[in-house]
Amino acid sequence: MSSQDNETIIELKGVSKRYGFGDAESYALRNFDLTVKRGEFIMIMGPSGCGKTTLLNIIGLLDQASSGEYYLAGKNVARVSAGKKARFRAKEIGFIFQNFNLVPTLSILENVSLPLIYSGCRKSRRLRMADNILEHFHLREREYYMPYQLSGGQQQRVAIARSLIADPSIILADEPTGNLDSRNSHIIMEELQEIHSQGNTIIMVTHNPALTTYATRVINMLDGEIDTDIKTVDDSELPRGGKNEKVSVKVLPSRDPIQMEITSESDVVVSGENVTTEEAPEEKAEEKETKKPAAKKSSSKKSTKKKSTSKKKGAKK
Ligand code: ADP
Ligand code: MG
Repeated sequence: MSSQDNETIIELKGVSKRYGFGDAESYALRNFDLTVKRGEFIMIMGPSGCGKTTLLNIIGLLDQASSGEYYLAGKNVARVSAGKKARFRAKEIGFIFQNFNLVPTLSILENVSLPLIYSGCRKSRRLRMADNILEHFHLREREYYMPYQLSGGQQQRVAIARSLIADPSIILADEPTGNLDSRNSHIIMEELQEIHSQGNTIIMVTHNPALTTYATRVINMLDGEIDTDIKTVDDSELPRGGKNEKVSVKVLPSRDPIQMEITSESDVVVSGENVTTEEAPEEKAEEKETKKPAAKKSSSKKSTKKKSTSKKKGAKK
């Protein structure tokens, strides 16, 4: 089956993250090996402090391992410069955080367009693309709102839209439903499942064992190491995107605009990196071919799920 299997997209070899020195030395990650195939939906579980966020931050190039090797999409990224990391991150990785991390002083539209700053396209195009993807999340009518005017569930959907806009190959989500009630959690998980079913790779940290039904693989961590690692879907059954290229959500599930409850007035924190809304340096000529999230749909969707949530049809165009 191996020739049929999806390619390896992430490979960690002997990665350790140390804090402190001497007596105070401790390991957030200890000699950690992990191979991730494109199209996996991995849930990471484990007690608080076992290194889940550290792992995600290293995979997402937000943090640097103390030692070990890291190959992302075949490239050794363990020790590249901060600038290269930022560019690689912008191209390859979408982040979703527990507390949404929308920039409080920017509109929803501007928030969603932020990852495109690295893409070199001009602001008007970035905003058009953001408008497009928000439409598919049924949040267009909120695009000139500020984050505080949205419920927690809506903010997280905005954050998901933001995580997808630059066509990343990997989505990293650190307890994305941690601040949401069960109904909103379910909505977010359905979004993620749809994103996954189109061939995207997702690595998600959660405390909620009920959510592991969405995963193709569940890793339990303990003290910076893998405790158990169970694949519930065979590699050969993982969903695929179009080619060997990056894939993204082209069609998102349609649903009525949802008035979701505010379940937590969590602080909105800007995290990860400093963002700027300044104009991108170059203006790309391909201004016309505005990316449409709904332009094409992966045809090779496979039902890899034990649990198949109802897919609503319709609003794609
Ligand atoms: P989890 O996400 O599983 O709760 P973390 O990855 O946040 O765990 O943390 C793993 C371990 O690393 C914890 O023991 C934590 O205290 C430690 N740690 C995380 N960040 C730092 C830091 N900046 N300085 C010192 N220790 C840290
Ligand atoms: Mg954590």
